[in-house]
Amino acid sequence: MSKRDYYEILEISKEASQDEIKKAYRKQALKFHPDRNPGDKEAEEKFKEAAEAYEVLSDQQKRQRYDQFGHAGVGSAANGSGHFTNVDDIFSHFGDIFGDFGFGGFGGFGGGSRGRGGQRVNKGSNLRVKVTLTLEEIAKGTEKKLKVNKYVVCDTCSGTGARSKDGFTTCTTCNGSGHVTRITNTLLGRMQTSSPCPNCGGEGKIIKDKCNTCFGEGIVKSDEVIKINIPAGVGEGMQLNVSGRGNAARRGGVNGDLLVVIEEQKHQELIRDGNDLLYLLYLTIPQAALGDTIEVPTVDGKVKIKIEPGTQPGKILRLRGKGLPEVNGYGKGDLLVNINVWIPSKLTKEEQKLIEKFSESENFKPNPGSVDKGFFERMRNYFE
Ligand SMILES: [Zn+2]
Ligand SMILES: [Zn+2]
Repeated sequence: MSKRDYYEILEISKEASQDEIKKAYRKQALKFHPDRNPGDKEAEEKFKEAAEAYEVLSDQQKRQRYDQFGHAGVGSAANGSGHFTNVDDIFSHFGDIFGDFGFGGFGGFGGGSRGRGGQRVNKGSNLRVKVTLTLEEIAKGTEKKLKVNKYVVCDTCSGTGARSKDGFTTCTTCNGSGHVTRITNTLLGRMQTSSPCPNCGGEGKIIKDKCNTCFGEGIVKSDEVIKINIPAGVGEGMQLNVSGRGNAARRGGVNGDLLVVIEEQKHQELIRDGNDLLYLLYLTIPQAALGDTIEVPTVDGKVKIKIEPGTQPGKILRLRGKGLPEVNGYGKGDLLVNINVWIPSKLTKEEQKLIEKFSESENFKPNPGSVDKGFFERMRNYFE
């Protein structure tokens, strides 16, 4: 198989500057990066090809030889270039190029993060719990006490995992630093790579006498009652993060977070619509015709509303500010009272006679235009 031109591989001109070469290589490397193309053999080949091109073109001498003699000038075993047989070699050569892009060249840090001094810091896992709230609780905000079964720091060893204070020895592999450094001579010079110590897992020390309660883990399962403040206005599915109240970390690290997921209990009478609340109010025929004063439920107890004589079904009364507050904000929704008129489906003989009498009256004949001037206009628009 004949080799492709290095400039062509990196998609640059023969006059490209070192900076342009570096940029072009980054672009190609990221495009064909194995993390982005898992299992793709062709991408892996392109990734290696780009690394080889970069190795030559980024070196002034090799570039010169390549420009003069082509692949023959640089590609032989005699000068050792162009031999990236596996992807890990590329990372250990050019790892710094990937650093800015969030790709781990060296990998293996797991769930931990690096603390000061290089030792690995354990992080406890996050814990997710559900809490069910009534609309009344949501309206005002509330404080809840949740019993949570979680990992807590072991009391016996105070989370160290060791039976006593001097139950540790310094890791001899890394001399307590938590990481091991490897220096390799490469064509680009001496390269230093660092990875977590395989012997102590990056902690820098080893327990020689384990705590009997937690077996060296430094954490045990236990129930804890956690008090949380829930702000007013939250909604179904929202998640509150309570920082540091999740699971404790193994052997003295940073706690995870407690994630509280809100579940809204359905209200018997009120329906939530964002920050507004809806209430379906049924009036009797006499109430709608003669007017009345009626109590309606709100999240803050009952309130009285006035029904005007001649109120039509379908009318909506807006009670301003009787809805739910904006979460972490200002303003409140409204309570919308949607008026219906209850039509009886069973009538006695006497009732039937009374209703029949009404039907003779001119006042009982529907005349929507007289109460709602825009009615016909809206209907026309609706059907168009
Ligand atoms: Zn313990
Ligand atoms: Zn070690």
